[in-house]
Amino acid sequence: MQERIQMTDLKAQYTAIKPEIDTAIQSVINETSFIQGKPVSLLEEEVARYCGVKFAVGVASGTDALVLALTALGIGSQDEVITTLFTFIATAEAISRVGAKPVFCDIDPDTYNINPDKIVEKITPRTKALLPVHLYGMPCQMDKIMAIVKEHKLKLIEDCAQSFGSEYKNKKAGTFGDCGCLSFFPAKTLGCYGDGGMIITDNDEVAQKAKILRNHGSGKKYYYGVHGFNSRLDTLQAAILRVKLKYIDLWINKRIENAKYYDELLPGSVRGIGPEYKHTFNYFTIRIKDNKREEVQNRLKEKSIDSAIYYPLCLHLQEVYKNLGYQAGDFPVAEQAQREVLGLPMYPELTKAQIKQIADTIR
Ligand SMILES: *Cc1c(COP(=O)(O)O)cnc(C)c1O
Repeated sequence: MQERIQMTDLKAQYTAIKPEIDTAIQSVINETSFIQGKPVSLLEEEVARYCGVKFAVGVASGTDALVLALTALGIGSQDEVITTLFTFIATAEAISRVGAKPVFCDIDPDTYNINPDKIVEKITPRTKALLPVHLYGMPCQMDKIMAIVKEHKLKLIEDCAQSFGSEYKNKKAGTFGDCGCLSFFPAKTLGCYGDGGMIITDNDEVAQKAKILRNHGSGKKYYYGVHGFNSRLDTLQAAILRVKLKYIDLWINKRIENAKYYDELLPGSVRGIGPEYKHTFNYFTIRIKDNKREEVQNRLKEKSIDSAIYYPLCLHLQEVYKNLGYQAGDFPVAEQAQREVLGLPMYPELTKAQIKQIADTIR
């Protein structure tokens, strides 16, 4: 039996930086400042600098980053938020959580991101915001999205859970609109050792509101102005992330190299990426046509190669969104993607020999 190739290999990454990580963890324990300790504010400064924004607010998860951002922007019941239906549930879940209604929009077949040409027809007098997702690490067409946002005076929240470090026209994902929401879930490009997230923004008011919301609605200790959340980023996670942030560009470059090699061996896998896009490949996704996906997955499995489907059921067809009244066939591009996409192993430490083996099996 050959060694299994996983979707991501967190152990390999930890092994490479073990002394630094262990020291960082031990120092938090020595200080016992587990909640809102110094590493949290230091990480916030570092991420803000990395992304080129004024503020970053650490929270408990990427999902909470979305919920707190929507809340800080005043989005709630009676409001509609236009988003993609080809994403992780958390994107729409956050909209529903604040009492607003997610309005789904079909995707672009090459990039799997929201199709900006189909957004305008979804706008109603109730539309308050757009919530695009830079899926798999691929930035959305931000010029077109910004034009819509300006013309219709909408708020813009970017879901950057899969796109840490991604860029459109040399500007980081998450910095185009009112705020960007990051996830530090372990499998993301910049992942911690548990749950974590962050809101990045240039808007002072949004940053201040998010800081109050994450801490039970309290600006001053034991005085509460609004209903808040318990949603802080753990000091331990912040300390781990500060170590990992130093290596992130190196790791992103390796992901990009790996994607190039995949694309050489499986031509046409990577599509729709003009020079204005920096795709950071949190996930590497190919399409398997003619109902052969299951067969391909089985062949990979025989060779101990993992694969995964992001995502097997579009959000408009999920049980939880039955009440929205959508039907199969409403979003043909995304529904075809749900039948054809296949995610392959992707992480910085993946070797060329492993990629070759995966590609050979698929071919
Ligand atoms: C992972 C993810 C989230 C949620 O992040 P958590 O940190 O797991 O809460 C939100 N949106 C997208 C697109 C994601 O991939």
